[in-house]
Amino acid sequence: MVKKYNLAIRGAGPAGLLAAREAARRGESVIVFEEDREVGVPEKCGGLISLNGLMEMKVSPIEKIVNKRIKSGQVIFPEGERFEFDLSESNLIVLNREEFDKQLAVEAVKAGSEIKIGTRIESYNELADRVSLKTSHDEYESDLLIDAGGVVGYVNKEGLLPATQFVYAVKDGFYDGIMVFIDKNLLHNFFGWYIPLGDGLAKIGSAGDQNFAYKFMEKNLKAVSISGYPIKVISSSLVVGGISKKANTRTLKVGDAGGQTKPTTGGGIVSGGLGGMLAGAESIKGTFTDYNKSYDDLFGSELKRQLTIANVYKKLSNEEILKIISEIYKVSNKLSGKEFDFHYYLVRRLALNPSMLKIMAKYIPDILKELV
Ligand SMILES: Cc1cc2nc3c(=O)[nH]c(=O)nc-3n(C[C@H](O)[C@H](O)[C@H](O)COP(=O)(O)OP(=O)(O)OC[C@H]3O[C@@H](n4cnc5c(N)ncnc54)[C@H](O)[C@@H]3O)c2cc1C
Repeated sequence: MVKKYNLAIRGAGPAGLLAAREAARRGESVIVFEEDREVGVPEKCGGLISLNGLMEMKVSPIEKIVNKRIKSGQVIFPEGERFEFDLSESNLIVLNREEFDKQLAVEAVKAGSEIKIGTRIESYNELADRVSLKTSHDEYESDLLIDAGGVVGYVNKEGLLPATQFVYAVKDGFYDGIMVFIDKNLLHNFFGWYIPLGDGLAKIGSAGDQNFAYKFMEKNLKAVSISGYPIKVISSSLVVGGISKKANTRTLKVGDAGGQTKPTTGGGIVSGGLGGMLAGAESIKGTFTDYNKSYDDLFGSELKRQLTIANVYKKLSNEEILKIISEIYKVSNKLSGKEFDFHYYLVRRLALNPSMLKIMAKYIPDILKELV
């Protein structure tokens, strides 16, 4: 006999597990399929998010899942210019992603969801009155299906950016804040990053394959006198192409699969996690017809604005970005409140300053038009 559920979910990442938790808490029968043999592993993530975002996902307790609180950050250019920003008010944290995903699984299970690991959804088919699905082991039916299968499920392949991240054992020059390396002559459409984990470990990466990312980061780390050796490497893709509107009546893509990531950074734990939560809550309606509108109100409009910012960034030279960052630095060396997740607040705050407004009008008029 084919087993039946109200809601089936593809993928036990943050988006899928939060959807499961919310739907199960509302009394739906939920099953999550995860093709990997362990939730949270392999971990392919920097884990950098805002504490606000973590709170909005209503995960608790948080002690075990927060690796580190971030108080400062630097933007670094190839000629050695460095700008240090005070991030103490922006409440940035580094998550232990493996623990985070496992805790979400516990919350989903406690709410009543079933999870099947080592089980791949091979295909699903939306019918008029149900969804039928085939897994690597069995066939199932559900009223609705949420596809939270991550980057592989994202349809706009041009919006994918291959990226590589290393965990480094840092020998000399460990810095306790985050770093962003802008080197447009080598990497015109993105940047390199450094995220400290503490105890001499840091996550370091950039867009590109392993070979490119290693050379890019070696050059840039040398410029800031950081040395060390990679002790782990992962290559995957960042979703930077924007939301794909794929809400049908009974099936919906959320998280990376739905393009619910920040096009400026590829970060998607919060924007996709909240997208999953909303989907789980909406599933009790028996249809996803209203979902796109609800997500736009929550995060979608901000992600569209960020797509404009990301496209403008690609066109700017090192010198132009340097001018903009130096001006921002003069006006304010702080990032605060919700500005890490909602760039709209930052641009509006900066545009209140006349000299900054002039710089913006000259170099980034598209962003100004859309965000102010
Ligand atoms: C190098 C790198 C660094 C990053 N750093 C950050 C960061 O610092 N901050 C941030 O916010 N975001 C970051 N991200 C992005 C973040 O990791 C993703 O946005 C987030 O994991 C998306 O969550 P998700 O639940 O949509 O998908 P995932 O976490 O990818 O989960 C999807 C799950 O679906 C499973 N699956 C796929 N297909 C099937 C199938 N057919 N059947 C069953 N299961 C399936 C997969 O095995 C996986 O477990 C980074 C990404 C990369 C690549």
